[in-house]
Amino acid sequence: MNISKNDNFSEWFTEIIKEAELADLRYNVKGFVVNMPWAVMIMKKMYALYEEELEKNNHLPAWFPAVIPKENFEIEKEHVEGFKAEVFWITRGGDKELEEPLALRPTSETAMYKMFSLWIQGKSDLPLKIYQSTQVWRHETKSTRPFLRGREFHWIESHCAFSSKKDAEDQVLQDMQMTENIMHQEFCIPFIFFQRPEWDKFPGAIHTYAADSLMPDGRILQQPSTHLLGQNFAKAFNITFLDENGKNDFAWQTCYGPAIWRMFASLISVSGDDRGLILPFKLAPYQIMIIPIHSKDDKKIEKKAEEVKKTLENAGFRARIDASNKSPGFKFNFWEMKGVPLRIELGDKELESKELTVAKRFDGKKIKIKEEQIVEKIKDIAVEIQRFLLKRADDFFLDNTSKAYSLEELEKTIKEKGGFVMIPFCSVEIDGKECNEKLKERLHVDVRGERFDVKENPENKKCVVCGKEAKHYVYVGKQY
Ligand SMILES: [Zn+2]
Repeated sequence: MNISKNDNFSEWFTEIIKEAELADLRYNVKGFVVNMPWAVMIMKKMYALYEEELEKNNHLPAWFPAVIPKENFEIEKEHVEGFKAEVFWITRGGDKELEEPLALRPTSETAMYKMFSLWIQGKSDLPLKIYQSTQVWRHETKSTRPFLRGREFHWIESHCAFSSKKDAEDQVLQDMQMTENIMHQEFCIPFIFFQRPEWDKFPGAIHTYAADSLMPDGRILQQPSTHLLGQNFAKAFNITFLDENGKNDFAWQTCYGPAIWRMFASLISVSGDDRGLILPFKLAPYQIMIIPIHSKDDKKIEKKAEEVKKTLENAGFRARIDASNKSPGFKFNFWEMKGVPLRIELGDKELESKELTVAKRFDGKKIKIKEEQIVEKIKDIAVEIQRFLLKRADDFFLDNTSKAYSLEELEKTIKEKGGFVMIPFCSVEIDGKECNEKLKERLHVDVRGERFDVKENPENKKCVVCGKEAKHYVYVGKQY
């Protein structure tokens, strides 16, 4: 590519989407893009891993209608206020006005919970854990970018109902663990879970916990959040169950939204380099590209390529041969741009020596592997790739997490480095909102919240904004 990720991340991101053929932005509706085959093939693998994890934890799949009647939508007051500005409405069918406008789902609480109230009667109907992999639509007014923010995006939403608060709280912890198992360990995207401040909660929730990740330019990208909804929605939608004493009680609820689209944006950005995508081995649509090198006996090379492909496929790998009439150099660059983890070069030399030349995308190195050892060795390399990507991502994340104890120090860190900065702060309740507004205005950062996993209490520290006694350490940063 012509643009370096470190010099100009934003342009690099635009360029890689075009060069690796991930999305086509020329679709003629503003804020909507075409997701191209290579991107969809990768995201389908991401979906599959996430769905497997959800189902392992007893979440069941369902497909809910994309339209939500206005009546449902207006049941929970905070929720409707929070989403009002972003909803697309369908008002006509053919040439007739609809009797009741239908919302294109911006999220599915109000579709699902209406049904939950019918499905849940007794305690034995709980827990109820339903998820769907789907698109949602929001009329974004901020500028849109493929995979980062769109008027249509692709995600998973999981909605649960329980008979006790404790069960709902446990679900929140399980959501965090799933994020760790899949987004971090499989997709190589590090994050911190924050409890969002009072002023930044999901509309209708008691608490919101969100996983913030980091982009290469030091800006923060929110990844999945999990919400403790308490009984707010259950009361609004009348989701009740008969408990063991014959008493009617409202269900306790949670919801969790891993947005595959946005995780893909992080995956591109965190792992990629100036030659294109670098993909975790499991997520690569093609894991090994075999490239025949023109020789005095092309037939022989072709036969060998087929043979190697068969061996790899029998071992469970996704292998392809690029037999197009482009030059080997072109093919090398092309598949490197696409992030194919391994390339096997096959020419006369390899045929004679019975050693395959294998080029590794992640470190750019070439090695020779004896033909009969190819399967075993590739298994080792797959582990090596994952370890490399994880470590590099984790190191970057740690390097970009700092502390500041005064506004000047914070300003300096944000200017020079970006990333997350931990500061002593007065309050994450609604009375801290004013200090957050000042931070936004002065430094264009906002409070992400208190870290969920590590509780650190400031002693004798002052809020860096107002100078009052600090009750919390919070993290701040510039947000996407
Ligand atoms: Zn303050």
